[in-house]
Amino acid sequence: MLTIDGVGRVYPNGTRALERIGLTLEAGEILAVVGGSGCGKSTLLRLVSGLDRASEGRILVDGAAIAEPHPAVGIVFQEPRLLPWLDVADNVGFGIAHLPRAEREGRIAAVLAKVGLADYARRWPRELSGGQAQRVAIARALVARPSVLLLDEPFSALDAFTRADLQDHLLDLWAESRPTMVLVTHDIEEALVLADRIVVMQPKPGRIAAETRVALPRPRD
Ligand code: ADP
Ligand code: ADP
Repeated sequence: MLTIDGVGRVYPNGTRALERIGLTLEAGEILAVVGGSGCGKSTLLRLVSGLDRASEGRILVDGAAIAEPHPAVGIVFQEPRLLPWLDVADNVGFGIAHLPRAEREGRIAAVLAKVGLADYARRWPRELSGGQAQRVAIARALVARPSVLLLDEPFSALDAFTRADLQDHLLDLWAESRPTMVLVTHDIEEALVLADRIVVMQPKPGRIAAETRVALPRPRD
């Protein structure tokens, strides 16, 4: 469960990127956040991920405040952001280095199998297609078994066919452990297909302008 309570962010240069954001997500809920460029979507995800600090308000994951990057929150960006000097398995395992070796290797193998890349563990990032690299990024975000998964335009750099394939993969993965998900997207159809609820943001300052539940049947139902 994720609580965003009265959250604002003013950047050091004085730009107010977010104002009074309030959202409560149930465990397993999928929220899509849509809105034009500059309305604070990335800022919001950075705050929830612990990569940045709110200027006001509080963010709770399963009741605990998030003040720095934490294994309970996974994040996937538009670009895979894989480390080029590590192979696929080591990229996926980067954030779980503290786990005992057998546990770590078991988790890496399981999550790579789930994204259809069981045979790619010893490949290098440069050998992957765009869609494969993004599947590795999703595997890396899920391997720590986060209770919240954040996705910032995760499919918008991919062609339509690959995008549909990854949307299916994402719903399959979601169904396994049912993390709470926040999906930032420009693609309203993607929001309708994947989300239980959609919020529309507006800029200057970034705020929630509208919110709706999605009543369409979704593939996973
Ligand atoms: P979105 O993801 O919706 O495009 P952002 O969260 O990137 O929006 O940006 C929200 C606002 O904050 C914009 O006005 C942007 O210019 C500003 N902004 C983003 N990052 C910074 C930063 N590091 N310093 C100053 N202003 C920023
Ligand atoms: P896409 O259509 O997604 O751009 P690519 O043409 O990049 O796909 O890749 C097609 C296949 O070729 C993928 O299975 C990928 O793993 C493999 N591949 C791409 N580049 C390399 C490379 N430099 N070395 C080895 N395999 C590669």
